[in-house]
Amino acid sequence: MSKKIVESYKNKLAQEEGWLIKQGAQIRIALCYPNTHAIGMANLGLHTMYELFNKIPEVSCERVFLPDADEMREYEKSRASLLSLETQTPIRDFDIVAFSISFETDYLNMARMLRLSGIPVWSKDRNHFHPLIIMGGAASFLNPEPIADFTDVIAVGEGEVLAFQLIDSILQGGDKEEILLRLARIGRGFYVPSLYDVIYNDDGTAFDYLPRADGVPKRVGRALAAVNPKEGTLRRAIKRGENELAEFLKNQDIFCPSTAVWSPQAEMGDRLLVEISRGCSQGCRFCWAGYNYYPPRVVPAKDILAKAAEWRGKTNKIGLVSTAVCDHPEISTILSELRKMDYRITVSSLRLDQISDELLDALVESKDQQIAVAPETGSDRLRRVINKNLTNDEIVDICGSVFDRGMLTVKLYMMVGLPTETEEDLDEMFVLVERIKDRMLEAGKKFGRAGKIITSLNGFVPKPNTPLQWDAICDEKELKQKIKYVCKGLSRIPNVEVRFMSARIAHEQALFSSGDRSIAKVIESAARLKGNLNDALRETGIDPKFHTSRNREYGEFLPWSIVDSGLSFEFLKTEHEKAREALSSKPCPAVEKCTTCGVCPTTWLADASPGLIQIQPAKVREAIAAAF
Ligand code: SF4
Repeated sequence: MSKKIVESYKNKLAQEEGWLIKQGAQIRIALCYPNTHAIGMANLGLHTMYELFNKIPEVSCERVFLPDADEMREYEKSRASLLSLETQTPIRDFDIVAFSISFETDYLNMARMLRLSGIPVWSKDRNHFHPLIIMGGAASFLNPEPIADFTDVIAVGEGEVLAFQLIDSILQGGDKEEILLRLARIGRGFYVPSLYDVIYNDDGTAFDYLPRADGVPKRVGRALAAVNPKEGTLRRAIKRGENELAEFLKNQDIFCPSTAVWSPQAEMGDRLLVEISRGCSQGCRFCWAGYNYYPPRVVPAKDILAKAAEWRGKTNKIGLVSTAVCDHPEISTILSELRKMDYRITVSSLRLDQISDELLDALVESKDQQIAVAPETGSDRLRRVINKNLTNDEIVDICGSVFDRGMLTVKLYMMVGLPTETEEDLDEMFVLVERIKDRMLEAGKKFGRAGKIITSLNGFVPKPNTPLQWDAICDEKELKQKIKYVCKGLSRIPNVEVRFMSARIAHEQALFSSGDRSIAKVIESAARLKGNLNDALRETGIDPKFHTSRNREYGEFLPWSIVDSGLSFEFLKTEHEKAREALSSKPCPAVEKCTTCGVCPTTWLADASPGLIQIQPAKVREAIAAAF
């Protein structure tokens, strides 16, 4: 074991608070984040799983990160195998190695960490003496296929439910095969790739997935935290003065995901991060986070404020994590109470249409929030294609209210290569950014200074389980030209800074998010070849265009169909057809007894068809049914 690596880990621990070592636990879990400590500790999913696993008396969970550059040099020099942070134990000695993967771009790091640990990368090469390898997190259940061959179990859904089910199943005993079969037979939440034969058509597309054992489901349902109130149900109860129901919903025993380990050296490590809601109601057709966390649910204000009070002695900075901060039915209470506690508030993302004066005031007060907004495009028509229901006039007005508060710099997220995009659509970006810049200069006169418009351009990447999942990504050469054209046009506008993601990176993302099982070979090869994807594609002979650059037929069996996210085929197809005609759709109401997209009938409603698992606790169902 390298002394330098141990020293480096001990130094990190010395700067942290809140980590723990549980001696004598029955099950030891190495919780791996496929990026460095500095980046991983800013990920709320990692904190959440660390806290959830360690809550279980029989479990001891330690963290593992991709070594930083100095540590990696030491690992290579000493040929040491990858160690956990807390006790510097080789991760191959743990019972479970669980990866938390939020982004498909981290797949290569995951494979590098497995290689470094000395654990065989391919599940078929592992035996009973190796730890159980589990992958969880948003990327892995959106489309588990590119990492299926590395993995014993893929967690399909949310950790609040799955952590306990996983440990319960393991504690029931048996060998690896028995545990895997038991997990697969739950029917929801655990996908065991080795228990399926994938049948392919002659053209290389998937034909079907055949379960290899009785009781293993054809499709694996997504498990979700159903004790959290639906956003619309709580909002309606508050608005209608249904106090009893509102109080009932707010007083469930709810887990509030938040920072578990105080790690001031890490990115955003100087603030308490709290998830205030999950999912977004708007249904932007490109957004995987919206659809795959349907229905939008909230953490009640009392739980958020209790966390804030607990941490106030340590920090005066709080980051509210949510895809739609202002949609929280209790956002006013949350903001005013946090301001009373003298917190400096930042938010993870802002949705333009809902931004309130109250939130803007809180952000101005905090001084360290850069406002980032996402018009996505400069064309009102194209915004209807993606179901982002805002006009350019509204966007300029909203930016204006930011500038009028003296915040004269905004970041604008834009996409290039959207379906049906024309050159005129791209030109409209210049007009929109010019208008926003003029509005900034006008407001700047009052403050005697000028600000900056930072535009961030990304190539559109079609994501699984969204209405645009059937679309091809814009051809790489064409995407490159479009990005160049927009960059050139925007950089001519004064006070505008342009940042962009390369067409290459967009295509890499598309391959890892929409590929099938064969992509694991590319990931393994690229991890071995120091991240060189071109060499990996050459070595494996895989044609990336087959996976990324075809418009898929509605009848094609999509690789990610093995996961049943709850979204019905008819809903996604209708939304896709409406996108083609630039027709917008209403947001998800997030209320009881809605069946629009198919998610709630399979998770919430008492009258769901037989065979569908009801994970809403009976007492909650009864209370809600009584109120409607
Ligand atoms: S069924 Fe209705 S409330 Fe439930 S997620 Fe779908 S659109 Fe939202």
